[in-house]
Amino acid sequence: MLSEDLITQCKLRLEPFACEGFVYGTGPTRPLLMFVGEAPGETEINNGIPFSGRAGKYFDHYLEHLGITRNDIYITSSVRSRPYKWGKPHNKPARKYNRTPNKKEIAAHAPILDAEIETTKPPIIVPMGRIAYWRLLGFSPKMEEVTGTFIHSPIRRLDDWEKNTYDFTPETYTIFPLYHPAAVLYKRSLETIIYTHLNELKSALKNI
Ligand code: URA
Repeated sequence: MLSEDLITQCKLRLEPFACEGFVYGTGPTRPLLMFVGEAPGETEINNGIPFSGRAGKYFDHYLEHLGITRNDIYITSSVRSRPYKWGKPHNKPARKYNRTPNKKEIAAHAPILDAEIETTKPPIIVPMGRIAYWRLLGFSPKMEEVTGTFIHSPIRRLDDWEKNTYDFTPETYTIFPLYHPAAVLYKRSLETIIYTHLNELKSALKNI
């Protein structure tokens, strides 16, 4: 669906950064929802399947609760490669750890997400976590203030890669932010509120 030229150009822009692998977004050309994550992790880089690691198991619970499958939705993320840093666990060899992508890395892959949104025109976009929220809307509120609410707004698309600037789409999109599924792995107490948010989203799906 995306042009290979566009992908090659984005990969080249990411080359100077500590990022590895590449995972394609997956889903139909007319998805019910588009889920936008942060960046793939080690598992995803190895098997090419978005959200297939630990967070992915929890993501699958989201879908089960919504009564939909991966065939109904488009899954992508702000960066399509794994940002890593080296660390040395006690008494073990150094290894790579996942890290949050920085703004230059997000800009390097921004044209991919821009094209995915433009071509699939998802009726609802679900940014999961603060990186995806920032990528689409350009600011970073506390997640508890925005998750589980419907936002009708233009979204950001890359304007100038060199200057790292964005403009906004002429169209308005419906955005429904959720906690990133990894959040619950660190904070179990979020589970109740996440399911309240998923119930809201499930009701909205009836009108699509
Ligand atoms: N987080 C993401 O954004 N994507 C994945 O595939 C896994 C974790």
